[in-house]
Amino acid sequence: MARIETPKRVRGTQDIFGDEQRRFAHVLRTFERVHGLYAFQRLDLPVFEDTQVFARSIGETTDVVSKEMYTFPDRGGDLLTLRPEFTAGIARAYLTEGWQQYAPLKLATSGAVFRYERPQKGRYRQFHQIDAEILGAAEPAADVELLVMADQLLSELGIAEGVTLQLNTLGDAETRDAWRDALVAHFEAHRDQLSEDSLVRLEKNPLRILDSKDPRDRPIADAAPDIDAYLTPEARAFFEAVTAGLDAAGVAWTRNARLVRGLDYYRHTAFEFVTDRLGSQGTVLAGGRYDGLIESLGGPATAGVGWAAGVERLAMLLDEPARQTIDAVVVPMGAAAELRATGLVAELRRAGLSVDMAYKGNMKRRMQKADAQGARHAIILGDDELAAGVAAVKVLADGTQTQVALAELAGALARA
Ligand code: ATP
Ligand code: MG
Repeated sequence: MARIETPKRVRGTQDIFGDEQRRFAHVLRTFERVHGLYAFQRLDLPVFEDTQVFARSIGETTDVVSKEMYTFPDRGGDLLTLRPEFTAGIARAYLTEGWQQYAPLKLATSGAVFRYERPQKGRYRQFHQIDAEILGAAEPAADVELLVMADQLLSELGIAEGVTLQLNTLGDAETRDAWRDALVAHFEAHRDQLSEDSLVRLEKNPLRILDSKDPRDRPIADAAPDIDAYLTPEARAFFEAVTAGLDAAGVAWTRNARLVRGLDYYRHTAFEFVTDRLGSQGTVLAGGRYDGLIESLGGPATAGVGWAAGVERLAMLLDEPARQTIDAVVVPMGAAAELRATGLVAELRRAGLSVDMAYKGNMKRRMQKADAQGARHAIILGDDELAAGVAAVKVLADGTQTQVALAELAGALARA
């Protein structure tokens, strides 16, 4: 008989389970709690959008749009893309739903995103992001609030050590145009030394040469003019307000004049939280201000600023998660006890206790399983206990055992 080949996990995807899943869930829970402290509202969006949403807002020349998107025609012939990030979809929703009336709007979301990249440690084709955005606020206070929130999140996850906030400004449109011209002149003068990729960038997106990792580009990128000489007074004042806000909130930062970020729509603030612990996948959280984005989708001029972080990369930095525990395991002995135990388990769960009972097995097997599950108590129910209306409650950490009336059980366990 022909053997049926079992299906494989698709390259670049993950089955997240066990300790890895606990770390992953801890990141998401902490994000939910921290963004709540900053009065952000949760938003949930479609996983796929019209391809134009990403092509127009992220920019055709970026790596994400030019080579990383999962794009396909659906059965009706519409061209759709699995979201490679959240910002574009949030901007689309803001326009579709007419949320201008609520501006400024502080939004948070999380979920799977998709990019066709070469899989490696910390780099997947389906990965997960947490994302925070403020739409409709042109004030530097919004940038500051997002950065302080990111800093608190990393601290509460216990991973702030070894992570630095690298900050830059890309100026306003006038600044950026002048700086861009200066960069193009500089790179043109060194054309012959640039990598092939950077020659293409020179035509399409010269700023990106600045963060090229190709060793041939580095000396030329490092010698390129800084933006500082081109900052308009307004752009300079904006950047100073952001850094003053960070200082006031006690958030440490360093200037990285080479930080440009991949996406076309950034203005003013650009930033990355970078760790020295993940090798070349060291950026754990990144973002900036994108005041031109909503216009590129055909909407009115709208300010926006936000960040995204890779959940997997944050989870990789976490300490060993606490072992999962439950309050109790119920161990019935005999058929009569088993039925009574079914009722008891339901009662305890309704009282808010985490309780489990194996579907079968003798006492020894059930006690072994209770240990493996990290249960705090075993509730042993035999014929004698049933007759007396009690259960034997064993504290698994030290083996001590007491008798507790069944009616008192929920209260006793909740206090234990
Ligand atoms: P990189 O330079 O590592 O490719 P990026 O600039 O493409 O990152 P962003 O678009 O800013 O990344 O996405 C925000 C965050 O999402 C990153 O800082 C990183 O933590 C995470 N991330 C990006 N791409 C991947 C991926 N393929 N797998 C896992 N996490 C990723
Ligand atoms: Mg990338």
